[in-house]
Amino acid sequence: MPWPPLRDALIGDEPYGAPQIDVPVQLNTNENPYGPSQACADDIAESVRAAALTLNRYPDREATALREGLAEYLNADGGQGLTSANVWAANGSNEIMLQLLQAFGGPGRTALSFAPTYSMYPEYARDSLTEWVSGKRETDFSLDLDAARAKVLEVQPAVVLLPSPNNPTGTALPPEAISMLCEAAGNGVVVIDEAYGEFRREGVPSALEQLPQHRNLVVSRTMSKAFALAGARLGYLAAAPEIVDAVRVVRLPYHLSAVTQAAASAALRHAPELLGKVADLRVERDECVTWLREQGLQVAESDANFVLFGTFTDRHAVWEGLLKHGVLIRETGPDGWLRVSIGTPDEMKQFKNALVAVMEEAR
Ligand SMILES: *Cc1c(COP(=O)(O)O)cnc(C)c1O
Repeated sequence: MPWPPLRDALIGDEPYGAPQIDVPVQLNTNENPYGPSQACADDIAESVRAAALTLNRYPDREATALREGLAEYLNADGGQGLTSANVWAANGSNEIMLQLLQAFGGPGRTALSFAPTYSMYPEYARDSLTEWVSGKRETDFSLDLDAARAKVLEVQPAVVLLPSPNNPTGTALPPEAISMLCEAAGNGVVVIDEAYGEFRREGVPSALEQLPQHRNLVVSRTMSKAFALAGARLGYLAAAPEIVDAVRVVRLPYHLSAVTQAAASAALRHAPELLGKVADLRVERDECVTWLREQGLQVAESDANFVLFGTFTDRHAVWEGLLKHGVLIRETGPDGWLRVSIGTPDEMKQFKNALVAVMEEAR
């Protein structure tokens, strides 16, 4: 018997995570390169200071004030009449999605996604003893709706998990894909992971707009990306109140600390400022796509704050070459592709210079 006595499904698995390497240009985890302002940091500090005086008590288990703030924010981005009863919050949307699998997955049930997609999804399935099935995307990373419907009808998943925009490809789902999935899934729950929702291009609707039509639709969001708050760990979902109540059954007591709740509520009050750089990042993204294509590379259409590009016969060599120039990107996605997060104009200039140098060295 090997030690420690891990269950079989975990033997040989490594903890998930991108390398955390301290280099000048960090474009590997899709963070917002613009941090909170001094005014926002002061408000967060003041709110946390006030919360600190109550830390002898457990926090509000239901995080009601925060959920009210989040509902209000969502109503300005495609949500319709959402209240705290429609919203649930947790330590990052990763915890949100694990809780969804704990509530709706489990032994004898299946979760379905379409690859290439977020590599954490199979881990939520593994950790909740849910069977994992992955369908395929087209070569342009879009979803063939007929094939996807057939897959859902064949697999009968308890949970469908799909990011829109997708990570690592940047591909957004058209609204008809979301309605088709919700209808085909029947009593299954369809989770649309909009971690990058705020970066979507003009005219691309949020799945939030379809919540009134589909009782099995769940939209997951996070403050980690557009909101520039990855360090605070705050994710949330919007859905029908029955779904929220089901998730409440599996959450750990007091899962969201008073410090987290105070920091997130303060940050929400600064939403316009924190989100203020999203427009600049979108422009920078579109420019990056154009520039990479001008270098003769293949580039996936992106509605997110990152771009997937390739293809390289030895992508690891390119990734390492960039690292030698002080630029850290992500070696992820299908063979031969690399993903770069959108940084400041100066960071993007350094990335472009480094990539040109690395591609010349390879010639
Ligand atoms: C970054 C990311 C998240 C966000 O994770 P948090 O736990 O909220 O930081 C969720 N889904 C996808 C697809 C992501 O890329």
